[in-house]
Amino acid sequence: MKYKRILLKLSGEALMGDKQYGIDSDRVLQYAKDIKAVFDTGIEIAVVIGGGNIFRGLSAEKAGMDRVQADYMGMLATVINSMALQDALEKLDIKTRLMTAIKMEQICEPFIRRRAVRHLEKRRIVIFGAGTGNPYFTTDTCASLRAIEVNADVVLKGTRVDGIYTADPEKDPTATKFDEITFQEVYEKGLNVMDKTAFTLCQENNLPIIVFDMNKPGNFMRISQGEAIGTLVRG
Ligand code: UDP
Repeated sequence: MKYKRILLKLSGEALMGDKQYGIDSDRVLQYAKDIKAVFDTGIEIAVVIGGGNIFRGLSAEKAGMDRVQADYMGMLATVINSMALQDALEKLDIKTRLMTAIKMEQICEPFIRRRAVRHLEKRRIVIFGAGTGNPYFTTDTCASLRAIEVNADVVLKGTRVDGIYTADPEKDPTATKFDEITFQEVYEKGLNVMDKTAFTLCQENNLPIIVFDMNKPGNFMRISQGEAIGTLVRG
């Protein structure tokens, strides 16, 4: 087994499936099944989900809303997504805990690092909701931060594209994919992997990131077994 403990980051938009907004329950169930398959191999899994399918602070600010207020709404959106994934995982008989950076005692536990680690050791999937609990941050930063805090071996960023390209492959047909790239090269080439705060956290703590296509069946399993698909970013 290549990894003992992984942190999976999913964007909120990934949960939309083919819809324009909100949560596609078939897609969530599919993700839950993919996660279960990997979990059953013995790997410990923590998950961070974004909120972009429901609410994005920055877009709301552009529409005239106070940024901090909007960011808190974005954080609440991530809790809704986290609860949807928790429900789907529990339908598959997996023990889970949802821990949030903003206290919501009736529905989840507050994030306490030692408890999170304990849950993982006890073979529970831990979902980290409400981002970092701070405005002006993103769930990518939450993913990097929590991964470092719980000592994960890698951040797996599941997206709709199958890795990091020289340019946006949806706009530039000549764009080519990197199989592997260093943190430094990402900076030098000005590539967009995660926001800068999230990315710097990984670099400074030497935490590798793998960007991969989560929607291709079997990909998550292949990655977690150490197969070289997607793009690996390392020190
Ligand atoms: N957010 C925040 N602090 C955090 C994490 C998230 O303020 O630590 C807010 C921010 O407004 C963001 C929204 O929550 O736009 C949804 O998160 P994100 O955009 O990272 O979701 P994704 O793009 O992954 O769906």
